[in-house]
Parts: sequence; C-alpha cells; structure tokens
Amino acid sequence: MTVSFWLEDAQDDLAPRPPLDGDVDVDVLIVGAGFTGLWTALEVLRRDPSAEVLICEAQVAGFGASGRNGAWLSPYIAVTPAELARRSSPATARLTLETMRATVDEVINTCRDEGIDAQARKGGLLRLARGQQELPAVEGALRQLTAIDALGEVRALDADEVAERVRVAGAQRALFDPNAAAIHPGRLVRGLARAVERRGGRIAEGTPVTDVSGRRQGQRGTATTPTGTVRAETVVLACEAWLSQLPGRHRDLMPVYSLIVLTEPLSDAAWEELGWGGHELLSSHRYTVDYLSRTIDGRILFGGRGAPYHFGSRISPAYDRHGPTHDLLRDQLRTWFPSLTGVRFSHAWGGPLGMPRDWMPTFHLDADSGIGGAYGYTGQGVATSNLAGRVLADLIVTGETEHADLPMVGHRSRRWEPEPLRWLGARYLQRALTRLDARTASSGRPPTGRTLAERLLRH
Ligand SMILES: Cc1cc2nc3c(=O)[nH]c(=O)nc-3n(C[C@H](O)[C@H](O)[C@H](O)COP(=O)(O)OP(=O)(O)OC[C@H]3O[C@@H](n4cnc5c(N)ncnc54)[C@H](O)[C@@H]3O)c2cc1C
Repeated sequence: MTVSFWLEDAQDDLAPRPPLDGDVDVDVLIVGAGFTGLWTALEVLRRDPSAEVLICEAQVAGFGASGRNGAWLSPYIAVTPAELARRSSPATARLTLETMRATVDEVINTCRDEGIDAQARKGGLLRLARGQQELPAVEGALRQLTAIDALGEVRALDADEVAERVRVAGAQRALFDPNAAAIHPGRLVRGLARAVERRGGRIAEGTPVTDVSGRRQGQRGTATTPTGTVRAETVVLACEAWLSQLPGRHRDLMPVYSLIVLTEPLSDAAWEELGWGGHELLSSHRYTVDYLSRTIDGRILFGGRGAPYHFGSRISPAYDRHGPTHDLLRDQLRTWFPSLTGVRFSHAWGGPLGMPRDWMPTFHLDADSGIGGAYGYTGQGVATSNLAGRVLADLIVTGETEHADLPMVGHRSRRWEPEPLRWLGARYLQRALTRLDARTASSGRPPTGRTLAERLLRH
C-alpha cells in the first residue's frame, strides 16, 4: 500500500533508489527528500552546478507530508497577518505575504522550466462562511489584510457570487484570494526528485540519518546512517515532523496528524450540479481546520485535523489512518455537498506535519557549524518550502539572501513543554476547539475569542 493517492497517481516508478553504500564526502548533505530537501537541492544546483549534493531519505522521495497533502499551493503561513504585524510590524507582515504570493507563481514557473507536470490550476482560494457564526471571520480577515496594506485583489463574495463558482451548502459569504493554486503534490515531489538528479544531485533512499554533528576544528560536519557516514560542509535538516525523532530535537516541533479522504471521480452530472469549474481551493473558518480541493481527474479531496496527538510526539505509520476521524471527514463532506450523499470514497490517508511552539517556520544556516534547516510549517508548507529552499540555497552558496528581512529567516522557536504537559495541552486544545466549533455551529453565534482555548491558540 502506498502512503497516498498522490504517490500512486504520480506516474513515476516508486521502486526505491539505492541506499548509501559506504562513507562519502560531499559539499551539501540534505536530510529528507520532501519539498524542502528537494527545492533546496535544486536551488543549490541552479546556483552552483558543480556543487556535490546528496540527499539521504529514510524511505522514498515524497514519503512525508509532501506526498500526502491537500494540494493547496497557498500564499499563507500559519501565523496570521495580524499576529505577524503584532510580533514584528505591519511592513514585515506585508513583505511576508507579498513574498509568499510571488512564491506561488515561482513554483508554477519553475515547474514549467524544469519540465515538471504538477497539474497546477491557479483558481485562487475561497474561505467560506458556512453559517452566521463564521461571517465575522470573513470581515476580520479582510480587515487584517487592509491593516497591513496588502488587500490587493482579495475580496469578499456574497452568497450568490460564491454559488456562481461552487454550490456549497450553507455558504453565506467568502473571502476570495486569487493568489493560490491547486497542484498534484505527488507529481510535484517526484518530478522535483528527477529534476535534482538531472542536475547532478544524488538521492539515496532507504537511508535514515540517525545523528548529525556540525563542523568542528576545521573538520567537516558528519551524519551517521546505517550504511555509511557522510562528511559535508553543510548539513540541511529537511525532515519536518520527523525532526522531533532525532536525538536532542524532541521538543523542537510537535508532530500533528492531518487526515484526508478522497472520493471516486464524480460523474459529469454531479459536477454540473456543484460547479467548481475554477478548481478553487476551499475551506471554512472552523477552528478545527477543513480543506478541500478538486483533482484534475474529477475527485474531491476533503482534509482536516482532529486525529489525536500521541504521547511523546510519537510518529507511526499506524497513525496515518484513524477510523473515527476519517468517518467524520466523510460525513462533513456530505454536509458541504448534500447532493453527494451516496458518493463513494476510494482513498483515506494522513500524515504528520510539524508544528513549532510559536507556529512560525524556521529557515536557518549556522555559519560556524554548517548545520541548517527549514521546518515548522504547521500544515502550510507546499509554497513555503520553495521559499525555504531558495533562502537556504542563497545562504549555502553566497552566505547571504535578499530575503533576510523575512521573519522566518534565522528564526528559532522556543521549545515545546516536556511531557506530560505537551500531551495534556494538545489533547485539551483539540477537544476544546472541537466543542467550540460544534457550539458556534448549533447556536449560530460567532466565537467570542475569549475562551481559554482561543487564547492558547494565540500562543
Ligand atoms: C495530510 C496533510 C495535508 C497537508 N496539506 C497541505 C496543503 O494543502 N498545503 C500546504 O501548504 N501544506 C500542507 N501540508 C503541509 C505540507 O505538506 C508540508 O509542510 C510540506 O510538505 C513539508 O515538506 P518537507 O519536505 O519539509 O517535509 P516532508 O514532506 O514531511 O518530508 C520529510 C522527509 O524526511 C524524511 N525523513 C525523516 N526523518 C529522516 C531521517 N532521520 N533521515 C532521512 N530522512 C528522513 C521523511 O521520510 C520524509 O520523506 C499538509 C500536511 C499533511 C500531513
């Protein structure tokens, strides 16, 4: 069984590449062949075609979140514009959003240049108010963008304008942002792996890195694997949720599971009824997170968080599937589109994403030790990982980057609480937010923003 529909449908041979066999010396070692590792490798090789770049991947390229996600190539990071403005300044919040909007186009253009068919459809995203209780969230999001002078082409749509695009039950209003695209993550990640190899990079699959140490006294950094030691000038940690499984890194990120169900291809008549010809990315304003996309072959993907956090930040293939959460997602999809009551689902999967304590991603390279990395996207890494790859490549090849003013560059989040506090906090938040969503939906009253769970969400 593959980990997701996306990898099954990637039109690529998934037979693993050979693992590392013996000790090697390289310029750049990258740990993890997801979007972050592959974009970093590609961008290093674009800047310096002679660089020796090796990626060690524990499983196969795309095994992680990059091969499993909701297909949202979106310009948002997990920290809201208002929160970014509060933490730094409105100018920094605007710069971040504008850079991310440009990143969406950068991904699409680089795919074209590298011959990767990621099936990108730039139809924008619609954040729907499904019910009275979510109306203030639409206005709040518009106010946030106006406050940082970054509204651009983003606008509110009324119920009729939404229905012209897609018929979703209960949709009263929406925020429409045209700066987003639906992509095929499997084709993107596997295509990137081929592009890296075409440019001379090497990918060793089935090669878990078990320990990493930085440069010391003129000696290169080292990474240990079961089949050889890698010595490298620079070591890039690009293993997102799995970073928490490396020695000394348990509290850097919390692995949080996001789960997905996928329908069989719908009939033409069903699509006629739903509309959705623009392939917009869809979500509501629930705290418990829902995200939808339409595949090129006519299926609906419905994803959401809600699967339980596991004590000690454990990650296991057994957690990729969680019956009660997958059932809930199937039920929710039917409430979005009641005409699909009898729809059949062909796939269900999930995977861990990496959540830092302050939800802010980190792109960093320590000039002394030569250890760098990019991680902590909190479920918003499809576009962000491309920006991370360009920033890391700048720093590796030239020592500086034009993006130095972005809040992610050089950022270090504080560590998560030790167990059992982490488990108690995560489980409390998951339950409290689920109850809050249910309460606001049944009463029609918006959340107050004053409950303990909401205050904790603001970190
Ligand atoms: C279900 C789900 C839905 C999501 N939906 C979206 C979405 O729609 N839009 C969006 O922007 N983001 C989404 N995300 C998040 C997004 O997919 C990730 O942020 C992004 O893919 C992270 O890429 P990455 O390369 O950093 O990490 P990953 O893709 O997780 O790759 C890490 C790789 O490192 C490897 N690895 C781990 N440990 C080691 C080791 N010790 N040695 C060697 N290799 C190792 C893993 O096998 C894996 O292949 C979603 C995530 C999930 C789980």
